[in-house]
Amino acid sequence: MTEQSPKQIAIIGGGPAGLIAAERLSAHGHGVTVYERMPTLGRKFLMAGRGGLNLTHSDDRDAFMARYREASGWMSSWLEVFTPADLCAWAESLDQATFVGSSGRVFPQAMKASPLLRAWIARLKAQGVQFRMRHQWTGWGESGELLFNTPDGDVVIDKPDAVLLALGGASWPKLGSDGGWAELLRARGVEVEDLAAANCGAQIAWSEIMKSRFAGQPLKTIAISLNGETVRGEAMISEYGLEGGAVYALSTPIRKALATGYPVTATIDLRPNHRIAEVTERIASAKKGQSLANTLRKAGLSPQAIGLLRESGSLPTEPADLARRIKATPVTITGQTGLDRAISSAGGIARDGLDIGLMIKALPGVFVAGEMIDWEAPTGGYLLQACFSTGVAAARGIEVWMGLQTKAAESSSEALSAESSPDEADPDNTSGATH
Ligand SMILES: Cc1cc2nc3c(=O)[nH]c(=O)nc-3n(C[C@H](O)[C@H](O)[C@H](O)COP(=O)(O)OP(=O)(O)OC[C@H]3O[C@@H](n4cnc5c(N)ncnc54)[C@H](O)[C@@H]3O)c2cc1C
Repeated sequence: MTEQSPKQIAIIGGGPAGLIAAERLSAHGHGVTVYERMPTLGRKFLMAGRGGLNLTHSDDRDAFMARYREASGWMSSWLEVFTPADLCAWAESLDQATFVGSSGRVFPQAMKASPLLRAWIARLKAQGVQFRMRHQWTGWGESGELLFNTPDGDVVIDKPDAVLLALGGASWPKLGSDGGWAELLRARGVEVEDLAAANCGAQIAWSEIMKSRFAGQPLKTIAISLNGETVRGEAMISEYGLEGGAVYALSTPIRKALATGYPVTATIDLRPNHRIAEVTERIASAKKGQSLANTLRKAGLSPQAIGLLRESGSLPTEPADLARRIKATPVTITGQTGLDRAISSAGGIARDGLDIGLMIKALPGVFVAGEMIDWEAPTGGYLLQACFSTGVAAARGIEVWMGLQTKAAESSSEALSAESSPDEADPDNTSGATH
């Protein structure tokens, strides 16, 4: 048997999904080249580290899976391949021990992404991974070559043994992932769900007073409800509406409700830790002649919560009615903030179009990983975990597929040589003369 030369794999996209696949494949002796359009790797990963790099979450398995909504069943197989515990162990292997924060979110002790990314790139280089920066992938040539646009002009790369597309979603496009791949893949018959902002702010037409007095201030400890879903947490008042964890977590129901074309009214509980009876009692105990603002403050509302309550129209005077309003203040949502500043995007390559190795069924030899697949999740570490898990799963899928290709090639060459071997294939040695 002659020694096989290493398989060549092109990974396009140098974010977490592409890099973890590069790590796995290069560790197994394959030749890996990462192509990235930006001058440096992992820009969104670095941005994610700005406010504390939330790598994953300590939820139990079922709670974790449920975060992926309709995609949870599909995602569960990839999360088994590379679990949250595996992700923490991997970070630790790069000298970035993790800890679980009070919210259950998992962070590296350094909180930032930069030390982790630096150590990671050094490991990849040591494993022989090649990097081609400022290479913007623009599609395929007629024989499956990869086409890139670079500052030095167009570059054509011979068809590799396998390709992994890890091009990210479409949020924060200035960091490199702009969803431009969607049209390239649709043109090849791949089904791609429209990319839309996820984990994004809600637009609300505040009054001028609300904007000028409270934009930039937090609403601490609230619960927002829409269509039967309630999220407790914090929100930040902005000029155009609300931002922050509690609103981001409701992005999906908000997007779906807006798509119906009907007005979307969410309710905000400004005192989620107190029952209506308790709030009523506090209001009723106000001294005679006390101003409404003072009464509300005594009922535990911050000035910005009072501002938001006032936005809901004239306030009832009966304590029980006012308490009910405080527990369910209506806000009309007119839209969502765009992809430019969204944490992530929904939509992407349809899950049905992928096989069990994350290969695009319509494009044999082309695999996908990360945010470019049609799944979505709230913030809390679920996004990065899914990118890492699908990256590892795609690396496995690539190896299995390349193995099958090699076997198929070997058996067809064996069949050929058997056909052309006069002694074995043709005992009478009558047809061999022509070969
Ligand atoms: C502000 C912010 C904070 C976040 N915080 C967190 C957090 O704390 N926890 C969490 O779980 N998630 C967080 N996320 C989300 C997380 O960063 C992303 O889900 C994750 O980076 C997606 O990984 P990916 O590898 O799929 O894609 P990306 O990280 O987007 O990487 C894709 C790469 O492909 C490159 N590329 C795109 N098109 C081409 C092309 N045509 N040719 C060549 N290269 C191309 C891009 O330049 C990019 O480098 C945050 C996101 C943002 C914006």
